[in-house]
Amino acid sequence: MKKFKFCPMCAAPLVEKKEDRVECSANCGFVNYDNPTPVAAVVVEYEGQIVLAHNRSWPGTFCGLITGFVDHGEGAAECAVREVKEELDLDATPATLIGVYPFEQMNQVIIGYHVSAKGTIKLNEELDSYILVPPEECVAWPTGTGYALRDWLRSRGYEPEMMTLPRRT
Ligand SMILES: [Zn+2]
Repeated sequence: MKKFKFCPMCAAPLVEKKEDRVECSANCGFVNYDNPTPVAAVVVEYEGQIVLAHNRSWPGTFCGLITGFVDHGEGAAECAVREVKEELDLDATPATLIGVYPFEQMNQVIIGYHVSAKGTIKLNEELDSYILVPPEECVAWPTGTGYALRDWLRSRGYEPEMMTLPRRT
């Protein structure tokens, strides 16, 4: 994780004055709280199946939920619908909240949504492949987005198998 080295308010170096508290060395009042970033993660239901997609930047073949950073001035539920349009070119129903999950490794808070979506799937440049999986065959994974998928499946009466993920290096 990249950290700020200089104060974004006055450009003085940042220092760790107490454990886990990084502040401006010039005492301008800035504290780098390093709060987690909210990310919408979407379980997209399409023709009775779940869309799982592979990001171009990911090694391997793992396919995950559609995700995106919540924009300035945007609600997380709006973000979910927007990301489904941008990444899959599908028109989604209003997003229903599944739950909120920490994702400490990435300093993110995952806000899980479900949508139903219509149209013809066309991937944007972030994605290079996708799979359609019937809910009863979905396998989830033990990070924030995977827990969102698991909890949505449970709400429909399916208990998914959990895969083990290779450690990120
Ligand atoms: Zn400062």
